Amino acid sequence: KKAKTLKQPIAFYDQDDDKAQYRELLIINGLPKGLKQNQLFMVFQPKLDIQSGQCQQVEALIRWQHEGLGLISPSEFIPLAEQTGMIDILSTWVLEAVVSQQAKWREKGIYVKVALNLSSTDLDNPNLANDVATKLAQYLVPAECIMIEITESALMVSLEQTIITLNKLRDIGVKIAIDDFGTGHSSLAYLRFLPVDEVKIDKAFLDEFETSTAAKQIVKTSIELAKSLGFEVTVEGVESKSVLETLHAFGVDTIQGDYFAKPATADEFEHIYPQLTHTV
Ligand code: C2E
Ligand code: MG
Ligand code: MG
Ligand code: MG
Repeated sequence: KKAKTLKQPIAFYDQDDDKAQYRELLIINGLPKGLKQNQLFMVFQPKLDIQSGQCQQVEALIRWQHEGLGLISPSEFIPLAEQTGMIDILSTWVLEAVVSQQAKWREKGIYVKVALNLSSTDLDNPNLANDVATKLAQYLVPAECIMIEITESALMVSLEQTIITLNKLRDIGVKIAIDDFGTGHSSLAYLRFLPVDEVKIDKAFLDEFETSTAAKQIVKTSIELAKSLGFEVTVEGVESKSVLETLHAFGVDTIQGDYFAKPATADEFEHIYPQLTHTV
């Protein structure tokens, strides 16, 4: 009998686990207050259009300057917001922030498309397209000025509802991009049946770019296939001139990455925008 009890799993007290859990708790509990007190803000990463050598689009990325924890990455707090059902209010906040920013930029004569990121649960919301249309109407921003990015894996969560929502979004004139392509399990051949305009190839492939011919070949083939299926193709995470030149040779439409421009606040973006050109 004694031997049996010993086989029971034993939970050891681990201080690091404790700290991580405490941090999670601070993040989860702090989110509503953070939103209310404007601790969250958007930054915008310019994308380079290879053909024109100009920036015609930016991606909106959320940031959180937490009162106690400092700057927290969305990679940390977005999953927690998803798990706790708070992603709805967060995405509503992002939509408001992006569309109102678009209105300000258009007034100043700055015409760029802005892509915003949504989660799989946002696509489960049957009112999403309505909410987007209402927000655009409120600020008199045309739907063509907005893109929605959804990760490849989020797209597959509840495919049927997702397709309905994506079709509604496209009906109002919003373009759709598949984010982090290549990290999920879908193939491009399958994506052609989905209402998608752009494919963003994940930066993970670029990590091995200089050392592995296979990694290069995968990116080359993905770009070619995606383009032949009618998608716009972006590669994200481009950090060097040589990678940019290789991708240009592969026929990519747009690149995004620190080599061209890092994410910038709205004010910073307005400042750098006139000089944002690059000829490959
Ligand atoms: P993502 O949508 O794939 O965004 C691209 C990420 O790559 C951003 O990280 C960006 O800063 C980073 N990046 C861009 N170029 C480079 C580069 O040259 N080198 C490196 N090392 N990184 C680069 P970030 O801003 O930390 O965002 C991480 C992820 O968090 C995003 O990945 C997106 O999935 C999610 N996220 C960000 N903002 C939002 C948001 O407003 N809503 C939702 N639902 N998710 C968001
Ligand atoms: Mg994205
Ligand atoms: Mg991505
Ligand atoms: Mg990502």
